[in-house]
Amino acid sequence: MESIFEKLTQLTQTEYLILTICFSIIIFFMTIYSLNKEKKKLSKTVDSNVKVFQKTCDISENATMILSAKNEVLYANDSMIRLMQFNNNFLSKKLDTIAEIKVKKDWVVLDTLIKECCIDSDDTALSYPKSHLKLSEGDEIPITFHMDNILMSNFDEEICHVVTIEDLSKEIERSNSHFRHQLTNLPNQLQANKDLPAFFSKAHLEKNKLALMLMHLDNYSMLRSIIGYEQANDVLKKFARHLETVGVNLNISVYHTFDNHFLLTVTNLHSMDEAKTFVEDIQTRLATFYKMEDVNLHLTVSTGIAIYPDSGSIRKLLDYTYRALAKAEQEGDGKIHIFIPEESDSNYDELRLHNDMQGALNNGDFEVYYQPIIQVENREIVAAEALIRWKHAQYGMIPPDMFISLMEKTGFIIKLGQYVLEEVLKQQKRWELFKFKQIEISINVSMIEINTGEFVQHVERKLGEHQINPKLLKFEITEGTAMINESETVRYFLALKRLGVGISLDDFGTGYTSFGYLKKFPADNLKIDKSLVDYILTNEEDQRIVKGIIELAHTLGMQVVVEGIENKKMVDMIASYGCDYMQGYHFAKPLPVFEFQKLLR
Ligand code: C2E
Ligand code: CA
Ligand code: CA
Repeated sequence: MESIFEKLTQLTQTEYLILTICFSIIIFFMTIYSLNKEKKKLSKTVDSNVKVFQKTCDISENATMILSAKNEVLYANDSMIRLMQFNNNFLSKKLDTIAEIKVKKDWVVLDTLIKECCIDSDDTALSYPKSHLKLSEGDEIPITFHMDNILMSNFDEEICHVVTIEDLSKEIERSNSHFRHQLTNLPNQLQANKDLPAFFSKAHLEKNKLALMLMHLDNYSMLRSIIGYEQANDVLKKFARHLETVGVNLNISVYHTFDNHFLLTVTNLHSMDEAKTFVEDIQTRLATFYKMEDVNLHLTVSTGIAIYPDSGSIRKLLDYTYRALAKAEQEGDGKIHIFIPEESDSNYDELRLHNDMQGALNNGDFEVYYQPIIQVENREIVAAEALIRWKHAQYGMIPPDMFISLMEKTGFIIKLGQYVLEEVLKQQKRWELFKFKQIEISINVSMIEINTGEFVQHVERKLGEHQINPKLLKFEITEGTAMINESETVRYFLALKRLGVGISLDDFGTGYTSFGYLKKFPADNLKIDKSLVDYILTNEEDQRIVKGIIELAHTLGMQVVVEGIENKKMVDMIASYGCDYMQGYHFAKPLPVFEFQKLLR
């Protein structure tokens, strides 16, 4: 250390000057080096920030591009490349596109629009919300157009244009979906509400007939519980597509209003009959389009129709359609009902009936009537059918056809069924105590009651409670509903049979039971539907069908009841077919217990 100082003191002035200069140069370069390093670091940060922004633009759904003052494309993100259909080497080239933007009512070519905007440099931003972009012939996209002028320092203080185009088609699609049914994509109730006034006024002004048809798939909730949510949805989708194809060549609009309800408007209708035929065609084709392995599903639709002007005022046309549908449902599955004006004064108000049900049960307004069943062989009363009646304080006697389907919908049928069973068992006990002839009583039971899963146990408990021989009890179940889910029904029927009670397949001939399924059914009786008997004296086809069913039932070891026998000629004809039992007004109408038991004596 000492020697360096000694050496420095010994240096000449020139040597000392040279050394100082060298030293300064070294320090200068070191400073430059460190400054450069800092600058590089800074530019790296700026670079990475730019990259982040660029990436953000790249992935943005909004189409963005930057143009130089000479209209050269300096940057375009992926959305813009796609939208403008730029080819690979568009960068630094003049904007070259046939795209046009709608400005008020006129179409303006995109680069003209940009150039015009730059001439007026005060106008730094330009915006056309809810405009349109046209790329090729007829191809219009709803957009929002936005353009801004910015000063770019690294482009010699040049003004550049930032153009963004927001594609609104998806958003419009989303808001349109508000007016479509999620499942089937058909226009929904909201759309129907929007469209109907136009249909109405057109029909009114042009003095044309307008039909509103409200359709629903029968037993849909039951179907859903059997085949599951997904498959039931598929059925609805297929039905929707089916309705759409039906409407292709006609003036028909189809709406999926809710759940299993579809509304159709038909504007070029000529007659009531035409409306009916139209629905019948749908029905026939519908019957063939759904088949499942172990569920022999026979799909039907109930339809309510109201026609302007035949059904009445246009203001109430939709209401009338709903009323007609309710009527169709009451008539059974697959029925069509056209609203006729007198029905508006109908005595029965469904809502009123619905409200009155529980009270009626508590007040004892329901009464079980009995209709005798006659053995053909000896013409003796061997059984009876229990038929419910409602003595309504306001409406008087209401027949079950007016309220059973309503009760099935509301679930009240379960309570009513329990009431009928209780009444019948009590009555059996009284007849036993008072030494009346002991006969079997048939009770009508709805699939809704059986599907509760507690029906069989309930019957077993009640038989025990009242100490009644199970052989004196039979349950009648409509063929159509029993066949919706055969395997399940067979299971319940077998459980009932194990209790010792009888089973009768009611309204036989209206459903679509195949021979194969019938064989598996543990039913004791078939009850041929009244509709097959009504015209039997003159209709040869009905004669053949009834004869055929009787033979078939006997082959399968079942006995046959024919109901709806109204005169002696019918008795003779049907007896000649080998029928086992008969029931009908010819023998007796359903009677209150007091009158019925006179017949038993
Ligand atoms: P259903 O089981 O087919 O009953 C036979 C219907 O035909 C009864 O009508 C009976 O009065 C009627 N009838 C019998 N013989 C003749 C005849 O010779 N000519 C004519 N024109 N009609 C005849 P009702 O009592 O009005 O019952 C209608 C339907 O209501 C029944 O049809 C049944 O499905 C249902 N129902 C009645 N009571 C009950 C019940 O307690 N529970 C359930 N779930 N349904 C019931
Ligand atoms: Ca019956
Ligand atoms: Ca019947």
